[in-house]
Amino acid sequence: MMNRIEKETFRPEETFALAKELAEQATGGEVICLDGDLGVGKTVFAQGFGAGLGIREPMASPTFTILKEYHTGRLVLYHFDVYRIGSEDEMEEIGFYEMAGNPEGVALIEWSSLIAGIIPEDAIHVNIMKDPEKGFDYRKIVIE
Ligand code: ADP
Ligand code: MG
Repeated sequence: MMNRIEKETFRPEETFALAKELAEQATGGEVICLDGDLGVGKTVFAQGFGAGLGIREPMASPTFTILKEYHTGRLVLYHFDVYRIGSEDEMEEIGFYEMAGNPEGVALIEWSSLIAGIIPEDAIHVNIMKDPEKGFDYRKIVIE
């Protein structure tokens, strides 16, 4: 999971499948940052990742709650969406420091760039980009 991966997807299902494959390799303790514009596919990626851990519940972006935890997979999934966070300090109250890097689980953080100052150094960064010239459902996904 440590090498740089660059992949183009042409349908949401392909982004889902890429994330699912990565989840199957996760061992616990990973912090995975999901960045890219609104509607680019961060939640689709998170859903694929959840599926790869064996989570069967529906997963939506925790935009209003900041965090949603899933305990029914092979590892705990801590799904953060920090779009509405006021400050990095709020993350402590939510329990971020107990969850990020916890070997029992994996933390996924949508909009991680908004809390860049508290992201662990060894986090995995997933950047998803559109390219209007390549079509509506085209995405470039860079993982490093
Ligand atoms: P975000 O969480 O980044 O705001 P979502 O994952 O909620 O975005 O939404 C992404 C939207 O883009 C979905 O409606 C999805 O069906 C669509 N989509 C189209 N093509 C792709 C693709 N290649 N990969 C991921 N999502 C795609
Ligand atoms: Mg989202």
